[in-house]
Amino acid sequence: MLHRTMQLVRPDAVMHFAANALVGESMVDPTKYFRNNVASGINLLEGMVRFGIERIVFSSTCAIFGVPQRVPIDETLPQNPINPYGESKLLFEKILRWYSQLHGIIAVSLRYFNAAGASEKYGENHRIETHLIPNIFKVALGQKEAVEIYGTDYPTPDGTCIRDYIHILDLAQAHILALRATTSAQYNLGTGGGASVRQILDCCQKVTGKTIPALEKPRRPGDPPILIASSEKIQTELGWTPQHDNLLGVIESAWQWHTKFPSGYQN
Ligand code: UDP
Repeated sequence: MLHRTMQLVRPDAVMHFAANALVGESMVDPTKYFRNNVASGINLLEGMVRFGIERIVFSSTCAIFGVPQRVPIDETLPQNPINPYGESKLLFEKILRWYSQLHGIIAVSLRYFNAAGASEKYGENHRIETHLIPNIFKVALGQKEAVEIYGTDYPTPDGTCIRDYIHILDLAQAHILALRATTSAQYNLGTGGGASVRQILDCCQKVTGKTIPALEKPRRPGDPPILIASSEKIQTELGWTPQHDNLLGVIESAWQWHTKFPSGYQN
């Protein structure tokens, strides 16, 4: 079916967003991650070679770095994933390098840090929600009693995990630039700033004007303590300039979407 579509449409490029992307789930069901994120990806590449499609932009992840030696994380740091999700994405990045070298495909891997925020029409909505910000909003909307904080004993100032939350419109812009890249490359994509789970909770309380109850829970397996990006490489090489580096603004945009679409895309 995929190959038939490629044969009929003959696209100039493939944007490969499809994948399983949950750290916690990957620690319970690694087969799902290696099968879908790696094996099915090879099927896609086979089709690209067969029908002469020479360009791919791949959604990779900061999870390929595992517990980084230092932050911000630049592209020179070693990649040692600590969960099958990150490993599956790293494997596919490596496969892409070979297809690039042997079949001349231009492959750009964009390593998303934590995608957040919303545009007027598009926001975050999963059938089973595991992500932090939408789960906090569920509580604010009265759809959930309390948010759970996974781990309060990390080596961070407030004991909770720190992540780099990047606005989806900035991510989108990076994809447009990646389509114009002249050589294969891998780029880290984040704001260069980090926020802890508790800081995100505080911001969400400010933005929603509501008190959001939180329950302290044990660590979620597979979570590194701190992930913050250096995105200098993509800024220098592709001219990417993030427009949304204000965390409150990012969260505000997400909250507007959630209040407009409280049942997500079912509305
Ligand atoms: N997290 C949390 N409670 C939740 C969901 C997530 O404490 O209900 C934490 C999670 O452990 C991680 C951070 O929030 O440290 C961001 O998690 P998320 O699932 O949103 O994205 P990920 O970092 O896994 O891509």
